[in-house]
Amino acid sequence: MTERITDRLAPHPESHSKFWQNAHLYFDRVYQSMNLDPTWRSVLSTPKRVLTVSCPIRMDDGRIQVFTGYRAQHSNARGPFKGGIRYDTAVNMDEVMALAMLQTWKNALVDLPYGGAKGGVVCDPRKLSMGEKERLTRRYTSEIMPIIGPMEDIPAPDAGTDGQIMSWVLDTYSMMIGHQALGVVTGKPVTLGGSLGREEATGRGVMYVLRKFLSTQNKKLSDVRIAVQGFGNVGFHAARLLAERGATIVAISERASGLFDEGGIDIDAAGRFYRENGTLNGLEGDSISNEELLACECDVLIPAAMENTVTAAVAPHIKARIVCEGANGPTTPEADEMLRENGVTLLPDILSNAGGVTVSYFEWVQGLENFFWDIKRVNSELQIIMERAFDQVNAKADEADCDYRTAAYTIAISRVAEALRLKGLFP
Ligand code: GLU
Repeated sequence: MTERITDRLAPHPESHSKFWQNAHLYFDRVYQSMNLDPTWRSVLSTPKRVLTVSCPIRMDDGRIQVFTGYRAQHSNARGPFKGGIRYDTAVNMDEVMALAMLQTWKNALVDLPYGGAKGGVVCDPRKLSMGEKERLTRRYTSEIMPIIGPMEDIPAPDAGTDGQIMSWVLDTYSMMIGHQALGVVTGKPVTLGGSLGREEATGRGVMYVLRKFLSTQNKKLSDVRIAVQGFGNVGFHAARLLAERGATIVAISERASGLFDEGGIDIDAAGRFYRENGTLNGLEGDSISNEELLACECDVLIPAAMENTVTAAVAPHIKARIVCEGANGPTTPEADEMLRENGVTLLPDILSNAGGVTVSYFEWVQGLENFFWDIKRVNSELQIIMERAFDQVNAKADEADCDYRTAAYTIAISRVAEALRLKGLFP
């Protein structure tokens, strides 16, 4: 009976996007090697719920425009759903479903008491005025209101969203329930119950994981030249924190431009320039495209832009011996295999970019208790969690003689599968 139900629920890969298929390929590859009960496969790989909403917004010019939004809740086996909301023109249902699944593995790997979710609105946030963005965020929040909440599903920032947007999520939700509910969203500004250190947390986590990996090779950050693709919240802070610890950042890039300097780029100056001008174009140094950055002369490559940037077409040209994934899903399975065959070490997204959601967890705990930590405590607890996760992945990779992604997935999937097994089926 169970067999038949799971067969019927089994996802049909052909009908989904490449990114969704890739996320499932990574899952299936590991699941098959794990000796787990096959009947749980569909439960583990199928989102529990996906909500599509339509958000009509009055634009500044008086027109009404309808934006489509999604919230995919993949699993709550280990706790409330948790994951970001992205604003991007490329958002679609498959993408949020795949990202929600990745979030489940990530949250389980760093052992947070959460399941995984992801949301998104199809829009170009750079083309919206503040007023339009606010109306869109409030409408989207009220549309997904029935399925979010401090104990149900806790959104956070992702690509194209920030603390201001999270403030509107908080206010809309709080207005509708009649009191302030700090725990409904994370990534809030510190003055509104956010956590110190949340903004830089993903980049800080990247730094902790890379530093810990290098120490297993008897190397230090000051021994490596690093190229960082993407200069948003993750790329900028990762580059800045790595440079502060002696690493040489030889290349950075954003959507439209990039910079290469083998002597090392001044990240603080580049950050100021980028904030003022919205581009890196015009900064002194050799300009470089995003593709050139991936193949540049360096020891460590940090793809911290969007998914699917490290493809089979670029993999053979990558000179870095270490790829540390700052974005979610930047490496396609084909590229992953090619890089491994070429002896490149891949530090997978679900490990290396888990710092953001980890400090989101701290923020949620602080908000529920109305007791706020100092920055020293935030950073030291983050370091403990990231380094412990790295050690566990490293030990699993040694024990199973496998790569880090396989090791990380094995740990994460077994934690979620164990929670499912213990809870059993309802009713
Ligand atoms: N969007 C971030 C991620 O991909 C953070 C999610 C969160 O803080 O809930 O991990």
